[in-house]
Amino acid sequence: MEADSANLLPLLEKQWGAARLDHLRQIGRIAQQLGTPAYLVGGAVRDLFLKRYAPDLDVAVEGDTRMLAEACKAQIHGAHYQFHAQFGTAILEDSQGVALDLAQCRLEHYPAPAALPEVHPGNIHADLARRDFTVNAMAIRLDPQHFGILLDPYDGQTDLQAGLLRTLHSRSFLDDPTRILRGLRFATRFQMDLAPECHQQLKQALQADIFTQLSGARLWRELRYLLELEALPVALSLLTAWKLWFLLRPTPPASNTMPTLLQRGQEQIQWLSAQFPEEPLAIFIPMLTLIWQDVTLPDIQHYLDRWPVPDRSRLLADLRVLPGLPDTLLKAKRPSQKANIWQGVSVAGILAAMAIYADNPTLVDSARLYLQVQRRLPLPFNGQELQTLGLKAGPSLGKTLKLLREAQLDGEISNKENAQQWLIKQGILPPNPL
Ligand code: ATP
Ligand code: MG
Repeated sequence: MEADSANLLPLLEKQWGAARLDHLRQIGRIAQQLGTPAYLVGGAVRDLFLKRYAPDLDVAVEGDTRMLAEACKAQIHGAHYQFHAQFGTAILEDSQGVALDLAQCRLEHYPAPAALPEVHPGNIHADLARRDFTVNAMAIRLDPQHFGILLDPYDGQTDLQAGLLRTLHSRSFLDDPTRILRGLRFATRFQMDLAPECHQQLKQALQADIFTQLSGARLWRELRYLLELEALPVALSLLTAWKLWFLLRPTPPASNTMPTLLQRGQEQIQWLSAQFPEEPLAIFIPMLTLIWQDVTLPDIQHYLDRWPVPDRSRLLADLRVLPGLPDTLLKAKRPSQKANIWQGVSVAGILAAMAIYADNPTLVDSARLYLQVQRRLPLPFNGQELQTLGLKAGPSLGKTLKLLREAQLDGEISNKENAQQWLIKQGILPPNPL
């Protein structure tokens, strides 16, 4: 095959620069010495043709990865590695801390649809044959005599040029339905489409109800990646085209406002991250909240029973509050009452509310005020200081702190002096405390 003999050295030099190539050359040389040839595989090869910088490098080895990692550590200045016995993989880091994954070439056999494969050591051809799409089934030789030579047994290059995702065989989606969602992500990220026969394979896989055989954990992992996509609105239009909405909700969303909602949700997340870069935020939680517009709680519960979603009770609590939020806020007159309502919603839920009710400026302003100011307002006294003022430790102290917080939010107190006077007026402190 002509594509097989192409030497990509000029392209590699142009795209990646000397340091990365030197590192790969050294690994290729050492692997050769050990008699276990090494190849660059997977996404990095695809990204090279797409002229995108590949952050992760995967190297497939026809032999023992730990032995190669050990030899690299001994021979490459500053190199070190971690070995993961469970997967037989090694993460090799160079002196600059740049990491690269070493995995043994393997042959896979699927004992049942959607089950995890049985794995055996194999050569590079077997390793390419187990992959998801032709565009991801290319390899580059790293051995010194052939460094930079492309192996492209399934003509992935042609498919890449045509923007087509093509499986390597007709049972591919049945063997591993996560490939369907991987395909959806690649289609979204690289503006590709399934090859015509793969649309047919998708249809067959859905007719066979293949996703019911996939473990909830594996499904959730793929959905999370999906929800984290920058171009999520594009991915959702593909969910419609590929008839996959059932994975996320019982029926497709009735209106076409979903992409707008999600776009707004992403904007709110960006707004928050810019304001509070330290805020830990699981993006997929607000995204799910948005996706579950107009879905009943029992239906949502049904999905959550299957997925290992972190913070599920938090998420459910938010979903209970969100539909009535504009009314609840409208009834709250005092700033402290509004803040108390927001306090009952997670930060992710607040962002979702800001997206859902973007055309309600009062609600959005109130949410912003809570996130930016109210939730972080330092109290004039902490518990210890209140005790030195004569209050006893215990639940009543907590109550007093809450009252102080509310008085502060309502503008009744602003410093230690007027807070102390306020406590006296409330009868919480005696008129002349020590
Ligand atoms: P990116 O990392 O940019 O999302 P990638 O193609 O590198 O894209 P990874 O998930 O890192 O994707 O996987 C690396 C390679 O492993 C893929 O290119 C593909 O060849 C193979 N692969 C991963 N998951 C599967 C799968 N479920 N079935 C078959 N091959 C897979
Ligand atoms: Mg990758």
